[in-house]
Amino acid sequence: MTSKDLGGGAGFSLRGAIKPRKLFCLAIAISGVLFAQEPSRVIVFGAHPDDCDLGAGGLAAKLSRAGHKVKFVSVTNGDAGHQDMGGGPLAKRRRAEAQESGRRLGIEYEVLDNHDGELLPNLDVRQQIIRRIRTWNADVVIAPRPNDYHPDHRYTGVLVQDAAYMVVVPNVTPDTPPLRHNPVFLYMQDHFQKPAPFRPDIAFDIDDVWDTKMDALDAHVSQFYEWLPWVAGDLDKVPKDPAERRQWLSKRETHEMTPAVRQSLVKWYGAGRADRIRHAEAFEVCEYGKQPGDDEIRKLFPVLGK
Ligand SMILES: [Zn+2]
Repeated sequence: MTSKDLGGGAGFSLRGAIKPRKLFCLAIAISGVLFAQEPSRVIVFGAHPDDCDLGAGGLAAKLSRAGHKVKFVSVTNGDAGHQDMGGGPLAKRRRAEAQESGRRLGIEYEVLDNHDGELLPNLDVRQQIIRRIRTWNADVVIAPRPNDYHPDHRYTGVLVQDAAYMVVVPNVTPDTPPLRHNPVFLYMQDHFQKPAPFRPDIAFDIDDVWDTKMDALDAHVSQFYEWLPWVAGDLDKVPKDPAERRQWLSKRETHEMTPAVRQSLVKWYGAGRADRIRHAEAFEVCEYGKQPGDDEIRKLFPVLGK
């Protein structure tokens, strides 16, 4: 039997079983269940190609799987993050790693061409960020808090905060049409205590996408298997075998959950389920964008509580 015979036979029996009009109604009903609302549009900013992955890789994988739109933006090209290489060749390597990470997460990943280790919160970079948020037509914007040990992280936080109102102002960066509604701005989790500790307003169970998140990190070979272990002084502990080092990475990236994040999981998932969650990603609502209530948060993130 040829494939043509197979196709014709299958088509005939389907038509015999369900009338075309009923089939059409069924398709509409299924798509209505899958997308009772417009998919959410989320854009995440990190200072370096791997920062978004660390702070929101699990959320990105969850949203992408559910049909929502996610984009990662690295504000610098990462051309300073290595012990043996730097400049153009490193930027090229890291851009390729970011593309591979985006492919594994099922999202878009853009790397802006600002130098690593030299980022400043100036008007030029602010405009780059305003354009990205507008073009993505973002419902949610995620970024680091502006208190951090690394100046690039700190200034990425400042730059996104500085864009948090300007994205709706038509006379600012007029080459890109403004948004009509200010998005919700969220901060990624960190452990810095001054001037105020991170507050986990929203926490996501990422156990079901943990492997995908680790696959995304695994794509950044120059970082997780070379640069970061070199900085930590344990480069000799990285296994040579790709499968073994991937396992080593998963163990290294598994951190104890803070009581505040566990409490947030209880709020969003209920106590029974929250107690069993091993891996989570948490976010704090920034004061400068739209202030969402709990219902709106659930609407923006239908993956919550599932
Ligand atoms: Zn970084």
